[in-house]
Amino acid sequence: MTNNYTIIPGIDAKLKSQIKGLFYLKNNIIMCSKKNKPIIILSELDEIFKKHHNDKNHTGVNTTIKSIETIYATVPVNKLKDYIKNCEVCSLKTTLLKAPTGKAIKSTAVWGQVVMDLIDFSSTPDGEFKLIHFKDHFSKFTYATPLISKQGE
Ligand SMILES: [Zn+2]
Repeated sequence: MTNNYTIIPGIDAKLKSQIKGLFYLKNNIIMCSKKNKPIIILSELDEIFKKHHNDKNHTGVNTTIKSIETIYATVPVNKLKDYIKNCEVCSLKTTLLKAPTGKAIKSTAVWGQVVMDLIDFSSTPDGEFKLIHFKDHFSKFTYATPLISKQGE
């Protein structure tokens, strides 16, 4: 461990000794004494997050923290959470993975659930012509027949 301190002038002796205890310089990099790892400086934050989140297939918060902690002493968790929250790729992924809303229609018997469509061909040159179409949800059987009148008789 090298102990080449550069203490900012003007801070009191007590704080100086506290800082000496917590950090040391190694090749001009501020190191954490407790973990013997470099601390992250603010200007490197985006690059580090990009390397450990974007370049690793957009991992979640916990996996990204573990990845960063293999190199650095601590991770500014709230800043990482904000970074991931604002990640365009992740927000797109979350939207695509969202479960569809509404309940799926379940049918257990043939003709138990029927979808019906009325197709109007009244604007064709052949004149008024309507077609009614049924589809059974269970068997997917489809049936269509022409109609003369839309009104029930
Ligand atoms: Zn992402």
